[in-house]
Amino acid sequence: MSTKELRVAIVGSGPSGIYAADALTSQEAVPVSVDIIDRLPVPFGLVRYGVAPDHFSIRSVRGTLEKVLDRDKVRFVGNVAIGEDVSLADLRDAYDAVILTYGAARDRRLGVPGEDLPGSVAATDLVNWYCGHPDALRDEIETELASATTAVVIGVGNVAVDVVRVLAKAPTEIDATDMPQHVLDLLAADNITDIYLVGRRGPAQATFTTKELRELGELSDAEVIVAAADVELDPVSAVTVESDRLAARNVEVIREWSTRASEGKRRRIHVRFFTKPVEILGSDHVSGIVLERTALDASGALVSTGETFTVDCDLVVRSVGYRGVGLDDSPFDPDRAVVPNTAGRVLDGGVPVAGLYVAGWIKRGPSGIIGTNKKDAAETVQSLLADAQTMLGGVDRPGIDGLLSAGHQVVHMDGWRSVDAGERAAGAARGRERTTEHDRARLLDLAAGR
Ligand code: NAP
Repeated sequence: MSTKELRVAIVGSGPSGIYAADALTSQEAVPVSVDIIDRLPVPFGLVRYGVAPDHFSIRSVRGTLEKVLDRDKVRFVGNVAIGEDVSLADLRDAYDAVILTYGAARDRRLGVPGEDLPGSVAATDLVNWYCGHPDALRDEIETELASATTAVVIGVGNVAVDVVRVLAKAPTEIDATDMPQHVLDLLAADNITDIYLVGRRGPAQATFTTKELRELGELSDAEVIVAAADVELDPVSAVTVESDRLAARNVEVIREWSTRASEGKRRRIHVRFFTKPVEILGSDHVSGIVLERTALDASGALVSTGETFTVDCDLVVRSVGYRGVGLDDSPFDPDRAVVPNTAGRVLDGGVPVAGLYVAGWIKRGPSGIIGTNKKDAAETVQSLLADAQTMLGGVDRPGIDGLLSAGHQVVHMDGWRSVDAGERAAGAARGRERTTEHDRARLLDLAAGR
């Protein structure tokens, strides 16, 4: 048996990629070294650019993930885009195995007329903006938020709840976050008075979690408004609530909201269930949205009622889920928007592709909490290690360095530590732990110690 070290590249430094590196370097049966490659100059993926900045405890998982990146056998290779700077085919030649963990960065579409009008934005874009993602659509989001007074958020998952909460919070409730200063300034100055949170099914079917939901009812500047009729359970929902503790707890929170009297706060969060979008109105900008009442039939399937109504609004946020896209010439299932696989082994026409693996959202779809990715990555690594003997006998692999053009700035952990120090210093100047640097050129300068 060869004693050669297995050389593994992981594409994407979010939780799934780092958990895969953790699983690979926590075992001793197969000697392994890992390069975690990211197109951004900084690591952590959705932990940095997805988890809401006011969710401090969830974001603190960064510390645990960083310890994995600091291991001897793990190298962070930032600012390298696979499919642009280096092809996936070349990357696969340079390593014994490649694990795709690049997530699901795009938004799912609503499929209603008016979806592309100015004033209709994807939650993914709004989240990118408030998290300080270098590719955020700053001009578009800032123009819309500066003039909006009524926002309609479509979808009742945790991302929708995050977006509503961030838009509804008072400046004092977000001051301590690491959001870029221009984000905090704009959120402090916006004129949004009404935010609708719209679910096409009922409170018993919503995908948000209770802890996150409850926070909406605890805001200093915003009150929650729920119609009593919306919390009367239909027979299907009543059965769900009997058997599903999450659904029961969510319904309990929303029921309590429906009994609250108005406190006259500056902002109102209107929670509407059994309501789906039909059309976004406007000629050159969103001016309203046509919504239709829905119901569940005896089998629990969603049915339309034909009863429509219009809400005047100037901002629509589509929060109906993330969507994965293909990477270079990797196999991709456009219907499920995932890389087809069996237990993490990538399949092409149903046949495993030697040395190519997948984990996280791009493996199973955009669902679950951060911890879900640990188990998911472990399954993929188990498949990879089971295949290791077929790879260990081969030639020594050179890794990515020789594939990059001369002068290409790569960011390793020392570069990240410089960025980290710069962000902490910027935060300290304003009395908070960190201020996220949003500008890619500035991130690269910080990484280079400039
Ligand atoms: P999600 O939980 O799948 O929610 C998507 C929402 O969009 C659902 O309410 C869905 O309704 C609705 N929807 C889909 N298509 C629609 C359409 N055509 N018209 C109207 N509504 C539509 O996704 P997410 O909120 O983007 O979250 C992604 C994952 O990240 C989830 O696993 C979430 O829990 C996780 N996350 C967790 C946290 C946290 O733990 N704090 C924070 C953020 C995100 P149906 O159910 O009827 O399809």
